[in-house]
Amino acid sequence: MVREHHSGALGLKVSVDAHSGFCNGVVRAIREAERHLRLNVPLYALGAIVHNNEELQRLEAMGLHTIDPKELSSIQGKTLVIRAHGEPPSTYATAHAQHLSIIDCTCPVVLRLQKDIKKEYARIAPLHGRIFIFGKRGHAEVNGLIGQVGGDALIIEHPDQVGQLDYSLPISIFAQTTQDPESFHCLCNDIQTNFLQHGMDPAHCFFVHHTICKQVAERKPFLQQFAQQHHTIIFVCGKESSNGKMLFETCTTANPRSYRVENSGNLSANWFSALTSVGVCGATSTPKWLMEEVALAIQKL
Ligand code: SF4
Repeated sequence: MVREHHSGALGLKVSVDAHSGFCNGVVRAIREAERHLRLNVPLYALGAIVHNNEELQRLEAMGLHTIDPKELSSIQGKTLVIRAHGEPPSTYATAHAQHLSIIDCTCPVVLRLQKDIKKEYARIAPLHGRIFIFGKRGHAEVNGLIGQVGGDALIIEHPDQVGQLDYSLPISIFAQTTQDPESFHCLCNDIQTNFLQHGMDPAHCFFVHHTICKQVAERKPFLQQFAQQHHTIIFVCGKESSNGKMLFETCTTANPRSYRVENSGNLSANWFSALTSVGVCGATSTPKWLMEEVALAIQKL
């Protein structure tokens, strides 16, 4: 289902993708933050609560303060929001030491993944096995995941990394929730092949945990279809969004006339041909209101 805007001077027919926009985890975190902000509780978020500057500015105008870990010591006794990406145990320890009240908005899907990694580590570490995490180094969710195993996990960012690994010991692999399902599948196939080439039976030494969020995985086919249905695609997304990068690649593969913008100020009239259709879509961190705003700006061209 799409929402259509009437055409403007260029005769463009603009539609906003109904499947794009905040995922449940982000909706929940923002709803909680807004609820406390309306009660005039000074609120501090450790890192951007959503990887979208426009939405962040809206929340900051309501009184949300975004801080980095170094600043935790300067907000003693205040209220801290833990965002949907989750945090490692060390953050909770610091927060308790600083007497902070915690509003924990860790997404339930991420929370389950954290618990699963911890449990699997307890099983595989005595067998000298290793935990692999397919994800982005330095990403908050990945930091939260490796924190569950005291940092004793290998982060795989690119499939090229798997060539030189030790295939004489068991491996358990997990994926950051916003990774591309196809890339994860290819990576697991490569590792499996390497085990076989080293004379090891993957059935006994390679354990794949399918931890990519369904909300991200299911968006890909919808987005592919949406991108093919329009002459031009405008993908609205913050620079830091991990799934935004992956979903934008889906758009460009399905439709080479796809452009990524952070807001309507980034639009270029040169991208559009008169009397064609334009699809506006975004990542799980893109607010609906922003996609509507971009759609309206296109309509005026
Ligand atoms: S993408 Fe999925 S796992 Fe990540 S915050 Fe959203 S709902 Fe939770």
